[in-house]
Formats: sequence, structure tokens, C-alpha cells
Amino acid sequence: MIGVYGGTFDPIHYGHLRTALEVKEAVSLDELRFIPCREPPHRDAPEASPEQRLEMLRAALQDAEPGFCIDTRELERPGPSYMVDTLASIRQEIRAAPLCLIVGLDAFAGLDRWHRWRELLDLAHLLVMQRPGYSPELPDPLQAMLPERVVSTADALRESPAGRIHFITLTLLDISATRIRSAVAQGLSPRYLTPDPVLHLIHSLNLYRCG
Ligand code: ATP
Repeated sequence: MIGVYGGTFDPIHYGHLRTALEVKEAVSLDELRFIPCREPPHRDAPEASPEQRLEMLRAALQDAEPGFCIDTRELERPGPSYMVDTLASIRQEIRAAPLCLIVGLDAFAGLDRWHRWRELLDLAHLLVMQRPGYSPELPDPLQAMLPERVVSTADALRESPAGRIHFITLTLLDISATRIRSAVAQGLSPRYLTPDPVLHLIHSLNLYRCG
């Protein structure tokens, strides 16, 4: 079973790495792919270039947890990085293996605004990371599909290639890439929010100085 963890990773940080590990262990993923996006459709362009973000991701994942890897297909594809295109291209390669798209509960609550969102569940399961005690209002189309799609065990995900939704409760670390960029812009240290090799790259590439 393969997990897909998409993001801008501008830069990657311990919030990403820790949740990736917890998700991998919670549902026994065989492989977890970090997929940096080239052109995020739903937000401002990243500050660091695609090459710089990939370099930081590689630095963070040296000596990584077994099964963690980087998939660069979105960086190689011109135009907006729509997840539905990414999942379709992975699906062609893995045939009927179970595939899980990992999203935070906030992202899930806005899923109905994603490009061709209904097709996402034809291509993958959704693993939704939630914080204890946090339950945002879900839009009607999402709420309506929960009863027939939600499964409570990871084993149920292995029974089909796609189409199920599984909620995982995690203790999310209060770290964001925004916080790291603004620390650097203010001349403060982002140390211990991201692995040291990423920190060295932020300095040597002179990233995030201008805020
Ligand atoms: P930014 O602050 O620039 O918005 P970010 O820190 O949210 O960035 P992204 O690369 O945009 O990082 O996020 C990729 C994915 O990682 C998203 O699904 C996001 O919800 C999740 N994520 C980000 N930070 C954390 C965190 N601290 N814990 C768990 N998941 C996180």
C-alpha cells in the first residue's frame, strides 16, 4: 500500500516528517512518497524554486525512515499541479495496488474545491489526519459521502485500490513552513523546526531573507 504526501515543502519541516511517520505506522504503508508540487493551484506561488525545494526535501530525507521516498512527477509536469493528474499517473504504474492520499482535516474540509475532486476517490483512498478535539464543519457534498466511504480499520483499506476514507488522529506539531520563512526573514533561527541539513541549505541558498 502506497501513501502520497503532497505539499509545497517550502521548506519541509518536522511537522511533515513526524506526521508522515505516524501515518505510515498507523496504517502500515509499504511506501510513503513525498510529492513536491510545482505550481500549487490553490495558493500563492512558493518562495523557493522547485529545484531548491527538491534539494531541501532530499537533504531532509537522507538517512530517512525506510519506505520514505520522493516522487518528482509534479515538478516535471508543466502547468498547475493538480492532484487528480498525479494520482492518475501513479495509478497507471501501480495497477490495482491500494493507494492512499494523505491530507490534513483542513484540506479535506475544502476538498470539494479541488480540480475534478470526485475523481480523487476513484483513484485513491483518503487518509485524513485530524487533531484531537478539532472538527470543522464539512460542506454538504463531503458530509454526504462519508457514510458509505468511511472505514475504521487500516485493513479495510487493503481490500480495494481506492474509494475509502480513513480518519487518523495524530498529535500535530505546531510547525508550519510559514513560521520558518518568517523566522528567517526576521533574522531569527528556525533551528529545531526542521532538520539541520535543511537549515544549512536555507542559509547557503540565502532563502527566505526578504519575507
Ligand atoms: P505553509 O505554511 O507555507 O502553508 P505548510 O507548513 O502547511 O506550508 P505544505 O507543504 O503546504 O506545508 O503542506 C503539505 C501538507 O502538510 C499539507 O497537507 C499540510 O496540511 C500538512 N502539514 C503542514 N504542516 C503540518 C504539521 N505541522 N503537522 C501535520 N501536517 C502538516
